[in-house]
Amino acid sequence: MIIIARVLITGASRGIGAATAAAFAESGYAVIINFNNSKEKADALAYRLSSEFGVECRAVRADVSNPDEVRAMFAEIGDIDVLINNAGYSSQMLFTDITDEEWQKTISVDLSGTFYCCREALPSMIRKKSGAIINISSMWGEVGASCEVHYSAAKAGVIGLTKALAKEVAPSGVRVNCIAPGVISTDMMRGFDSEAISALTEETPLGRLGTPEDIASAALFLAGSKAAFITGQTLGVNGGFII
Ligand code: NAP
Repeated sequence: MIIIARVLITGASRGIGAATAAAFAESGYAVIINFNNSKEKADALAYRLSSEFGVECRAVRADVSNPDEVRAMFAEIGDIDVLINNAGYSSQMLFTDITDEEWQKTISVDLSGTFYCCREALPSMIRKKSGAIINISSMWGEVGASCEVHYSAAKAGVIGLTKALAKEVAPSGVRVNCIAPGVISTDMMRGFDSEAISALTEETPLGRLGTPEDIASAALFLAGSKAAFITGQTLGVNGGFII
């Protein structure tokens, strides 16, 4: 009997998550696409990937910042072999302009969402003594970004969570790693004007912005058996922006 591995990717309706869903479907995984607002995009992606690659692929709604919705999503989808915590939110403003609401929203989606999903995914992984979790942080979580203190703090928290959780669950056969993307061309960069984009491109030693597929390839590697001895690590995929 062939066992098909199942992956849940949060925030997979667009951007990095959608490219990651495509990469895993192409590799034969059954893919669960989590979305929050973009139902049409998520449904269309699930339909396209299942027709193109002949794998089970479905879209499931949950706001990852809401623990009840995360619990309900896991009850609906059942056990998974790989969890990719990709759903994210960012905004740019001076530190002194960050409101309580903006701080809470950023921490809730980017950090608490990762915690809620790990908490639901782990019991069955521990029981089976296998599983992989990949958390999408950011290079700003490593070095900090001016005018993104709330986002940098949340993404630094994701790195800390990854390291500590990796130590705790390694004896149970579960690996937990992190990817810290550089500047990647997605909707998240929509707030930046062309001048800022040119400056960021120039600052990237490889001379271009990253693509969602650059991150998807790293996630596929970290999920698979070729990364069997890698846990607790943060893999920078940033074109050399920070080294
Ligand atoms: P994006 O294009 O803005 O897409 C964000 C995704 O997250 C969407 O699918 C959105 O779903 C989902 N999402 C947002 N809030 C959610 C919530 N509360 N519950 C569930 N899903 C939610 O972003 P991206 O650039 O692909 O970013 C993906 C990840 O990479 C994020 O964690 C981001 O912080 C990280 N990252 C991005 C960059 C970059 O330069 N783009 C750099 C470093 C790190 P709906 O549309 O369905 O609401």
